[in-house]
Amino acid sequence: MADKKIHCEQCNKPAVYLDREQGVHLCRDHLKESVENEVRRYLKTKSLPETLGVAFSGGKDSTALLKVLSEIRSELPCSIIALTVDEGIEGYRQDTIRAATETCLTLEIPHKIIRFQDLYGYSLDHLVSGSERNACTICGILRRRALEVLAQKHSISMIATGHNQDDHAQTTLMNAISGDVRKVFSGYGPSSWYAHRIKPFARVSEKEVTLYALLSGLFKDLPECPYAVSSLRGEVRTLLYQYEQKHPGAMRNAARCEEEIRERLGGTYHPEEYKACSVCGWPGSGTICQVCMVLGKDIPHHNTVTKE
Ligand SMILES: [Zn+2]
Ligand SMILES: [Zn+2]
Repeated sequence: MADKKIHCEQCNKPAVYLDREQGVHLCRDHLKESVENEVRRYLKTKSLPETLGVAFSGGKDSTALLKVLSEIRSELPCSIIALTVDEGIEGYRQDTIRAATETCLTLEIPHKIIRFQDLYGYSLDHLVSGSERNACTICGILRRRALEVLAQKHSISMIATGHNQDDHAQTTLMNAISGDVRKVFSGYGPSSWYAHRIKPFARVSEKEVTLYALLSGLFKDLPECPYAVSSLRGEVRTLLYQYEQKHPGAMRNAARCEEEIRERLGGTYHPEEYKACSVCGWPGSGTICQVCMVLGKDIPHHNTVTKE
């Protein structure tokens, strides 16, 4: 009987991955190499600072990113530091923070953690109690600021995040559904204030990132965020995945759509003016920034780091 096993296109070892769009099978070594090459290609287009921060939640995407960067670290002109935000989510965050700490020890990458509790005076659980439906939005606003405070504390001017191609496709569709065209240009924020964000997995699919994380041996089966179930992103994710099954390449096209709009507009688009928040002094689009709105009236002293 003929051998039904599918082999790698490049070396004939057993395949672990099928790139449906290209119709190419890859073994574990060649999948690993292909993901690492994509990150190399991406990083070559960026002028990297002395120290590159990596937003590291301990989940599969950021674990994979940290592993890739540690694999190629001898080729990088910068050192790496992992940055973790502990939002304070009971039954979920303790395990993932522990896993994140272990990963950094294994990879010998310095690790810094900032807690909502210390920065804002409350955990996320406390802040969203009674309005759990908005947990992801609230968490996103507070996490972004927390990461920024942590980056400034360690003089980090650039942060790499684990966002993959599927995330970008989801964001494009979510922005279209909400009709919020301004969000397409959210990368045009007040750059003098915020650390520059880069996304080395922008052209790597979620499937490849997940496999890379699993094959690295670092990724453990961890609990999922209890708030994620109620998010619009979850619905959009399922929808896009089904569509990609029928029309390979759809995910990539959707992911690159916003990038292309930005490129074509080039310098002709002028983002909104940012004003200093009247409460905390951080930049926002109104007189009170989103963080202070979320925190309400009992605003603790969370602006521990301020820029001149
Ligand atoms: Zn191979
Ligand atoms: Zn504020």
